[in-house]
Amino acid sequence: MTLRCRFAPSPTGHVHIGNMRAAIYNWLFARHHNGSFLLRIEDTDRERSTPEAVQTVLRAMDWLGLTVDEEPLYQSTRRDAHLEAAERLLAEGKAYKEDKGGTGRGEAVIFRMPGTDVTFRDEIKGELTKKAEDMKDLVIVRSDGNPVFHLANVVDDIHMGITHVIRGDDHIENTYRHVALYQALGAEAPAFAHLPMIVNAQGKPYSKRDGAAYVGDFRDNGYLPDALFNYLVLLGWSPGDDREKLTREEIVSLFDLDRVRSHAAQFDIGKFEWLNAEYMKDLDETMYRAELAHRLRGAGYDVNAEDPGLVRIVPLMRERIKKWSEAVDHCVYFFTEDFPFDDKAVRKRLLKDGAMTALAAIRSAFADAADFTAESLETALRETAEREGQNAGVYIHPVRVSVTGQAGGPSLFDLLEVLGRDRVLGRIDRALEHYG
Ligand code: GLU
Repeated sequence: MTLRCRFAPSPTGHVHIGNMRAAIYNWLFARHHNGSFLLRIEDTDRERSTPEAVQTVLRAMDWLGLTVDEEPLYQSTRRDAHLEAAERLLAEGKAYKEDKGGTGRGEAVIFRMPGTDVTFRDEIKGELTKKAEDMKDLVIVRSDGNPVFHLANVVDDIHMGITHVIRGDDHIENTYRHVALYQALGAEAPAFAHLPMIVNAQGKPYSKRDGAAYVGDFRDNGYLPDALFNYLVLLGWSPGDDREKLTREEIVSLFDLDRVRSHAAQFDIGKFEWLNAEYMKDLDETMYRAELAHRLRGAGYDVNAEDPGLVRIVPLMRERIKKWSEAVDHCVYFFTEDFPFDDKAVRKRLLKDGAMTALAAIRSAFADAADFTAESLETALRETAEREGQNAGVYIHPVRVSVTGQAGGPSLFDLLEVLGRDRVLGRIDRALEHYG
């Protein structure tokens, strides 16, 4: 029998990283075992499941490369089948009707729990049992005639031939009831694997308050889908050694449920940013230039991917830019004289005693440099420092802040060469005038 698993999101307008990780694990499990990965949109809540909310799910999956093997099933189209299942349970005496709350507005259909303990073997958490006396009978069709989540979820998993249900461990309580429903409906229950919660540094469920929590936030913040995919995989699973950066192919070949941890996984933004930066370094040069030019144009600079200036700065920037959203800020001074100055850097490097004397000395050394290459500028700076009995840093920092407005950045001499004599001397003069 081929393995079939699915992602079954309820569209809300956002896709939380916890849900996306469940989707990724399902996808990986299917790919690893040559099974099928399916999508069921649980869109029975008409108010929340707008077409836009559904699009948000599809777009997030597409962005992360989670391909599906069959057309998505929309749960809202299956209402008749859900109600039919409820009728069957009624006919077999496994459910009963009741006017809940005695409103006279209609009767709910209630599933009679079997009266015995329910046990299932979770692929991650081991054997789990719930006592009969701790499970109340379960509403499966509301008095307004709408089937509830539990019924729809189970009936559709049976219909889709799902063999493995991999979902968050917030569903464990539901699963006991679902196991009883499968039995009552005469179907074999699938295997279940409940994934550990993603938590913040305090061990609480990771939410919007902790930072980027929805897939769209990561896309908008300029992170790379491959980095997010890799990082989410590691939240709860490890390859069995200490590797952290793995290709999709490597993950597919190594992934299985036996190395999924059962305890909560902490989302660490610092670690994720490190991984994203690693992926940024790997980006293809042409693609890198195109994206950088696109973002610069978006910020109002008239640059295209082939501009010689852009081509020259890409090698300097690649090591520094950790995510696309910060790219323009990192390199804006290559494209305008009207770049911003970081207040702290100005205070520390230009308003400091001796900064202007050092800057004036270096201005004349740079003006005298025979050619304006990184090498000769570095020689000029180091010779000046030696002559004056100063540390090179005394010159490097004020020059950097004068010509870039920033405290840090790529190799100073390389960027000076790219900027060229006129721009560099002009900016140093401006700083001397302004802060001198
Ligand atoms: N729609 C449910 C959810 O998003 C389904 C869970 C499941 O069975 O995978 O939590």
